[in-house]
Amino acid sequence: MSDQLAYVVRISPVHGRGVFANRDIAVSECVIEYTGREIPWSVALERAAEQDMPHNHTFFFSLANGNVIDGGDQGNEARYINHSCEPNCQAIEDEGRIYIYALHDIKCGEELSYSYPLIYDGRHTPAIKRSFACRCGAPGCTGTMLAPKKRRRKQKGPEQASHD
Ligand SMILES: [Zn+2]
Repeated sequence: MSDQLAYVVRISPVHGRGVFANRDIAVSECVIEYTGREIPWSVALERAAEQDMPHNHTFFFSLANGNVIDGGDQGNEARYINHSCEPNCQAIEDEGRIYIYALHDIKCGEELSYSYPLIYDGRHTPAIKRSFACRCGAPGCTGTMLAPKKRRRKQKGPEQASHD
């Protein structure tokens, strides 16, 4: 294994910028930490309302302690990792920090992805659905990054919105 950086940010065919393997990555390898400022949900929602809600919500990663990591605030390249319905990475929280691990061996040049369980408690209007449309191209693509609406409030994931 070389010490070469495992990832590189490039324009993605899926959406905007994406993160790609810059070398072969082995299964279970920690590719990158998802960094950003840790803020309470109340602050995250204020930030979202001030900006282009709901788009910037995709930079929010909710933590088990109820706070959010805002990848748009002092974050790193991990915030550009796109959603896929058949991802090759997964995000795991360890003591309040989020790390992105390879789910299987990844070849140099492949786009990295993980599955966001996007929770959006507001109305799933056509505009919202378009905003969160999935274009991952996987055979089992659900066509959306939005999780079906549920009553359950606490769900781990990079995205959570509330209209309380
Ligand atoms: Zn998809």
